[in-house]
Amino acid sequence: MSHEPGPVLIGSANAEVGMDRGREILEDGGSALDAVEAVIRAVEDNPEDHTVGYGGYPNLLGEVELDASIMDGSTRRAGCVGALRGYRAAISVARGVLERLPHVLVVGEGAARLAAEMGLEAEDLLTEEAEKVWRDGLEGRGELGRIGEMMLSRVASLATDPDRAAGTVDVIARDQYGNLVSGVSTSGWAWKYPGRLGDSPIIGAGNYCDSRYGAAGCTGWGELAIRAGTARSAVARLAAGASVGEAGEAVIRDIVELETDGHHPLMHLVVMGADGTHAGFTTRAEGAQYVWWARGMSAPEMAERTVVPV
Ligand code: ASP
Repeated sequence: MSHEPGPVLIGSANAEVGMDRGREILEDGGSALDAVEAVIRAVEDNPEDHTVGYGGYPNLLGEVELDASIMDGSTRRAGCVGALRGYRAAISVARGVLERLPHVLVVGEGAARLAAEMGLEAEDLLTEEAEKVWRDGLEGRGELGRIGEMMLSRVASLATDPDRAAGTVDVIARDQYGNLVSGVSTSGWAWKYPGRLGDSPIIGAGNYCDSRYGAAGCTGWGELAIRAGTARSAVARLAAGASVGEAGEAVIRDIVELETDGHHPLMHLVVMGADGTHAGFTTRAEGAQYVWWARGMSAPEMAERTVVPV
């Protein structure tokens, strides 16, 4: 979809809970960086979303580990955190990496340490509801009593089947100055191997932003977006002159061609051009939506993603 140049905000459908916060920031002349962070924070705070932040599904050991990234397309500076435990605002810690450290990616205890230095509140992210789903899943397989001592690599197949892994929030904003920023936050693949990082904290895989050309964000089976360098490839195609529709379809087709041991290559992508044009894509045969808002609209709306056949 195309618009008059001006503020534009898009995201995965679950970003809807935070879109108004982002819209207000952009309408008041605020920055794309603030808008992206604000939208994602609302999703991280939503306990009903079991794929992001507080209430996210845990890893095999029952520990919630969060991944997030944020990229400023005007400087191409980025901040990312992986396997962050004990702090829900992964996107803000990622922004902390961008603004406070001479690094791009910080994981585990280092990420938690930065969160504490930023004054964020430590808490247990595992809600009763998420814990029950984890417990029921492992108990059903008779594994729970032994999970601490097991060779987890032998039970890694307990992890949610890739065909069903879905969630994560991605958001791209263009502010009135034409700056683009993209952000992604996730609790990752449910029952993942501890320490597993998906595409969300990997610049070039699940997130890439360049205000000269556009931005892209992925949700879905993260290993595939890492293997295909999906978000960076989409923006490289925009830079070469492709439209958002052409760029998005081409990179999803590239994913579909990966070897996946017979699993459905589940992938969703949102793409925005430098001018604010945008589109969404999915490999889900049933289709899926993304949410968007542009200056002049009184409220965000849902749009259909283009289904790329598998
Ligand atoms: N891409 C995320 C990951 O692989 C998960 C998801 O989007 O559902 O961690």
